[in-house]
Amino acid sequence: MFLPRTGIGIDIHAFAPDDAPAPLWLAGLLWEGERGLSGHSDGDAVAHAAADALFSAAGVGDLGTHFGTDRPEYAGASGVRLLTEAARIVRDAGFEIGNIAVQFIGNRPKFSPRRAEAEAVLTEAAGAPVSVSATTSDGLGFPGRNEGITAMATALVVQRTQPESTHPESTRRDTLEP
Ligand SMILES: [Zn+2]
Repeated sequence: MFLPRTGIGIDIHAFAPDDAPAPLWLAGLLWEGERGLSGHSDGDAVAHAAADALFSAAGVGDLGTHFGTDRPEYAGASGVRLLTEAARIVRDAGFEIGNIAVQFIGNRPKFSPRRAEAEAVLTEAAGAPVSVSATTSDGLGFPGRNEGITAMATALVVQRTQPESTHPESTRRDTLEP
């Protein structure tokens, strides 16, 4: 019998400076007219935290392990693509995904009108339910100063009996078969 496993992921991105504006991609959606986030990829802190929580739950490393700068094929990849890939890697390592919950902290964008849209996009990417909520920091810290966004995610996975494939980063048969 395999018990469920939880994981955690945190991702932070700064808002892009005025002299290098970027579109805002967050929670898998494009937010027209909003200041974007800077980063190695699209800066989608919500999608990145979700992917990191999946890796954490499965115990197969983290975002840097799988999508770091030594993996140029992921340079500039969208958060939705990274979450899709993360879910595939975790499944290939022998896990089913129960759910992912993400909360981001930031004054912008105003999230509730698009919550259902964001959850649908991320749920499709992960192939499992993804819920997203938003809060503020009461004006404190860098989110309160509108300098960036923090996202925190948890994920729950359950191990199957056998890994389905031999993905090089996720083949951990020694630890998957106690
Ligand atoms: Zn990120």
